[in-house]
Amino acid sequence: MNLLPENLEIWQATLGWIPNHEQLQLFEQLYLEIIEGNKQLNLTRITEPVEFWEKHLWDSLICLQPFLGEEKAEINPNFQVIDIGTGAGFPGIPVAIALENMQVKLLDATRKKITFLDSLIEKLGLKNATTLLGRAEEIKKNNAHRGGYDLALIRAVGQVSICAEYAIPLVKKGGLVILYRGQWSEEETEILEQTGAKLGFQIESVNKLETPLTNSIRHGVYLRKIEETRTEFSKLVKIPVQKRFMIKEEK
Ligand code: SAH
Repeated sequence: MNLLPENLEIWQATLGWIPNHEQLQLFEQLYLEIIEGNKQLNLTRITEPVEFWEKHLWDSLICLQPFLGEEKAEINPNFQVIDIGTGAGFPGIPVAIALENMQVKLLDATRKKITFLDSLIEKLGLKNATTLLGRAEEIKKNNAHRGGYDLALIRAVGQVSICAEYAIPLVKKGGLVILYRGQWSEEETEILEQTGAKLGFQIESVNKLETPLTNSIRHGVYLRKIEETRTEFSKLVKIPVQKRFMIKEEK
């Protein structure tokens, strides 16, 4: 018997999507593995089945409405997603379960969490999720990752401008960043607009949401990258005038 509620009518009403039997089984397995992992690691304080469903599953997927909902977008099987500061795998793992065409990279700075996630991915048999150990501020400078993603997700990692600074360099020009936020203020919109002018993105929309069981406020903030990220090291590759002179003299 399953511990988690299915809440199919809520999925349908709020997201315009219903998990299939296999996905429901994976949610259940995910829940059991998190409870088990919590015995060793401090993964999450959300452990009651109903709360887990709302705060981890529903909350992770609701912002993917443009990809899952009735008007869903065509996703090519090479669509690259990165979940920055994924922790115990949220929102990245539910996204990998719900959207099998998306290739999901789970990034976290804590080795123990990455080790847990590697074993979780194997136990759940997820073919489209992989992990990455590191700090976002380093990973974004790495050519293997910079500009490599179609979509970046970031939940509960820090201030909005910091989240944008981590996420924007990792997505391609034209790519999307989704900031998962609780409350949202006009001031945050202003801060983000300033960051956007600097980093080359526009705020596409700020969606106010209410969680379906406890009516808590959430905001999904969608950022569209409209310019390539300038490299922060361009100054270092310039050869100083004096050095050029010296090279000439040596000949
Ligand atoms: N996104 C998850 C976890 C949030 S807790 C959720 O919503 O449930 C924040 C997580 O971000 C922690 O696991 C922490 O290790 C990670 N983190 C914080 N700063 C980071 C950084 N600069 N780079 C990568 N991971 C970071």
